Amino acid sequence: MNSHDIAFDSQHIWHPYTSMSRPIPAYPIVAAQGVELEMADGKKLIDGMASWWSAIHGYNHPVLNQAVTNQLSQMSHVMFGGITHPPAVNLCRQLVAITPEPLECIFLADSGSVAVEVALKMALQYWQARGEKRQRILTLRHGYHGDTFGAMAVCDPDNSMHGLYKGYLPPHIFVDAPQCGFYDEWDPNDLVPLIDELAKKHSEVAAIILEPIVQGAGGMRIYHPEYLKGVRQLCDEYGILLIVDEIATGFGRTGKLFACHHANISPDIMCLGKALTGGYMTLSATLTTRHVADTISNGEAGCFMHGPTFMGNPLACAVADASLTLLLNSPWQQTIANIEHQLKTELLPLASHPDVVDVRVLGAIGVIEMKQPVNTAALQKVFVENGVWVRPFGKLIYIMPPYIITPEQLTKVTSTMAKVLG
Ligand code: PMP
Repeated sequence: MNSHDIAFDSQHIWHPYTSMSRPIPAYPIVAAQGVELEMADGKKLIDGMASWWSAIHGYNHPVLNQAVTNQLSQMSHVMFGGITHPPAVNLCRQLVAITPEPLECIFLADSGSVAVEVALKMALQYWQARGEKRQRILTLRHGYHGDTFGAMAVCDPDNSMHGLYKGYLPPHIFVDAPQCGFYDEWDPNDLVPLIDELAKKHSEVAAIILEPIVQGAGGMRIYHPEYLKGVRQLCDEYGILLIVDEIATGFGRTGKLFACHHANISPDIMCLGKALTGGYMTLSATLTTRHVADTISNGEAGCFMHGPTFMGNPLACAVADASLTLLLNSPWQQTIANIEHQLKTELLPLASHPDVVDVRVLGAIGVIEMKQPVNTAALQKVFVENGVWVRPFGKLIYIMPPYIITPEQLTKVTSTMAKVLG
């Protein structure tokens, strides 16, 4: 990529959450190998982001490359309406086997946001089929579930796009997020806001949706497993569906294969995405129970009303199947435990820095929360100058590296995080 390409990009191509008239720099990456991104000038950056939680095995992995290549020689895509194929069946068989027991019916879609749309639609169709008018979703403040309209409507009402689209988003119910951190002593009062809200509104509520244990883009908050257990109990008491959005937390990131394992609970609906394909391609899955699937299927419509063009894309399914096998055949628990231990050793001491509010670590996730919002472009420049790729946002400087990161590479990332604090 030359300077003309970069100028074209900044003039014509939108980047995530970026101004078109005053874009912050986009760095040219021409290749990626293992844990490193290679810039156009040959400079290598150690990746602390795993491309937003997804590239758990690193880049250009021979096994995943082979899976895509093999599938490419068979067929890259075929419609899923009235057709099935080995990559979808193989992947879904694995997903049924590794997700909590009652989840056994899978809807494959294109992205995390769409998985959330699908989950919300399942909940609405479930209640419609049961002849009850329940159309409100209850969720937590500081949540994040994606950028499409249904997903946006259940994101935190203050730090997301609710203000911009006021009047266009259905009015759902928000309760204060849990305050007890993962390692704190459990305080049952944490559940009181939810208990109070449900006591008043339970008959309107179709489902509760939340990110289990780690609230990601809405604040990187890591909460107590007892809270999640309590939510499950309340859902059972009131007969409300529980949707867990494991799009960021799934596939080992928090130290368990799925974050809901920390609380030993199973949801009625689970959303997966991001690391599902090892970061190779876009694909998501929404899983539900036989009971929910049958109820929907016996309702007025007689089916679930969704069917994207690229549903069950064979290339994406093949690489997801291979990525899952790779993960399950690796000592991933030990790998994540080692990363967690190192993150605690190297990041927790930064909590005493005068500009830092809190440092949090769980599994392969490390978060520094600052007192003031950071200057993303300025910090990113320093990271890049130091050969590290980290993209801070808001008050958060956080990492979730590929699991294959070496201790030396991880130290390079954490020491650069310390350096940017000044
Ligand atoms: N849910 C959660 C918890 C997420 O972190 C994200 C992505 N950041 C999404 C949903 C949306 O996924 P996608 O960006 O693939 O639409």
